[in-house]
Amino acid sequence: MQARQNFTITEAHRTAHNGHPSAVVWLYGLSSSGKSTIANALEKRLFEMGNHTYCLDGDNMRQGLNKDLGFSALDRLENVRRVAEVAKLMADAGMIVIVSLITPYQEHRSMAMEILKNERFLDVYLECDLSTCERRDSKGLYKKARAGEISNFTGISDPFEVPTAEAFRVNTSKYDVNECVIRIAEELRLRLKN
Ligand code: ADP
Repeated sequence: MQARQNFTITEAHRTAHNGHPSAVVWLYGLSSSGKSTIANALEKRLFEMGNHTYCLDGDNMRQGLNKDLGFSALDRLENVRRVAEVAKLMADAGMIVIVSLITPYQEHRSMAMEILKNERFLDVYLECDLSTCERRDSKGLYKKARAGEISNFTGISDPFEVPTAEAFRVNTSKYDVNECVIRIAEELRLRLKN
């Protein structure tokens, strides 16, 4: 591997310049659990407080950088790896990055955590039962998956590995969007203090 080039301006300079530290918030959960909705509302809240923010949305990433990837376990692994690496670069650039990505496998979440181990990192499981997600069906995908028009669909024809009990979780079928955002923002505030 090539030696790493060091640049004069570092993340510490960018943090001082921005007036806040960088961080990565990784929202994961079933389709329609609320990842995009909460990412949007969380970013708005953080942005309006004067933070430099950016949302890396799984669907949007698949329209560009990840458009060559499908939904096999291997492609999902590569999808997660690329998103984690982009999030790491953006955190190094001084941003608060909000990732919204299903990230159904524990092993893939561990890999993302490993890639982001030197960043301030908060992973949030958006807990929501399958029947509520299917009722919401915000993108009409469950309907298509049930009709057999989409294969490898998480929750229907592909697994979602629920995280261990100690994971930070917010239940989106129990709390409204605003309450979910408040809970995540408070946890982030606590992590940024340390
Ligand atoms: P995902 O990005 O996980 O696929 P979306 O954000 O696209 O999910 O869709 C979630 C849907 O559920 C939206 O229509 C949203 O308005 C609705 N919803 C209801 N309650 C909540 C909540 N507490 N948090 C997030 N979304 C919620």
